[in-house]
Amino acid sequence: MASHDSVIDLRSDTVTRPSPEMRAAIAQAPVGDDVYSDDPTVNSLEERVAALFGKEAAVFTPTGSLANQLAIRMLVAPGEELICETNSHIARAELGAAAVFSGITTRTWLAHRGLLSASDAMHLAKPDSGPYLVSTTAIAVENTHNFGGGTVQPISEIAALREASSRRGMAMHLDGARIWNAHVATGIAFSEYGKYFDTVSVCLSKGLGAPVGSLMISTKERVAKARVWRKRYGAGMRQIGLLAAAGHYALDHNIASLAEDHRRAKTLAVACASAAPTTIDPSTVETNIVGLELTGAQLSAAQFAANAREKGLWISALGPTFVRLVTHRDVNDSQIERAASILQDLLNSAFVAK
Ligand SMILES: *Cc1c(COP(=O)(O)O)cnc(C)c1O
Repeated sequence: MASHDSVIDLRSDTVTRPSPEMRAAIAQAPVGDDVYSDDPTVNSLEERVAALFGKEAAVFTPTGSLANQLAIRMLVAPGEELICETNSHIARAELGAAAVFSGITTRTWLAHRGLLSASDAMHLAKPDSGPYLVSTTAIAVENTHNFGGGTVQPISEIAALREASSRRGMAMHLDGARIWNAHVATGIAFSEYGKYFDTVSVCLSKGLGAPVGSLMISTKERVAKARVWRKRYGAGMRQIGLLAAAGHYALDHNIASLAEDHRRAKTLAVACASAAPTTIDPSTVETNIVGLELTGAQLSAAQFAANAREKGLWISALGPTFVRLVTHRDVNDSQIERAASILQDLLNSAFVAK
């Protein structure tokens, strides 16, 4: 523990550990067998989150990947197509699950910073393609966009895409692993986000600080079917009120403070831009993720991250020239100050004239 506490871990907001107060809530949770729908804490969390997004029902899952996979399985039949942005989690970070589990094919459109353009998505979409070509039946939108750098999707583009996709008979899924951050950045209600989508996935285990837990949110009918598939995949769980209690605690206490994470990410971005202006435009940093583009640097992203690690700063190298910093509730202002100064030193030597 001691050695871990001496490092500043900005690899992801998934590294947050449950606080003593959250652990107390876990310890006190009433539980039952959730496979029999007998766990009161799970049931109340599912009802609460469904209502929050203006939907009928929700099902608790161990991971956001499973919530996404259950959702798209409900929207897209085998041999049909889901389209999404090239660097979205569903396309890049779920290990081909849509193909492996559900026989779903995918095509992607590329968007700078992952920023949604309804017309780009609609340009790629090919619903009702007839007997010889794959038909698009659903479109997934990630908000905020993780690999895009915590990008908040404009509600006007979401609304435009909903309008256009409904006219062509396509469904929409929201990968809302970090919808909490989008809400805090924009003030837009969760129910407003919910109304544009047929299915929504959310994560409690990112910036909200729960140890485990996600939900898939939709109609009663889709959620009932998704429950069967959750069990079939081996994720029917028993006394998981222990985990749902952490989720309740996170929703009660940990949403508003995401604004602190956003402020700290901006501080890091400003510091990095002052040392190496080509790496980041701080005005694009809206939430808790800072993506640094190291093109033109004298070392690779992996080497940059390794050098940072030697100085006690853990960051993620996500591409040959791309590193990601993520702020979260387990880093404070003085650690951010230290991180900023380590990054400035590293960037100064990375971009020094030859
Ligand atoms: C983290 C994340 C998920 C879910 O990840 P799990 O590790 O499976 O919980 C889904 N979508 C996005 C955008 C994410 O960042």
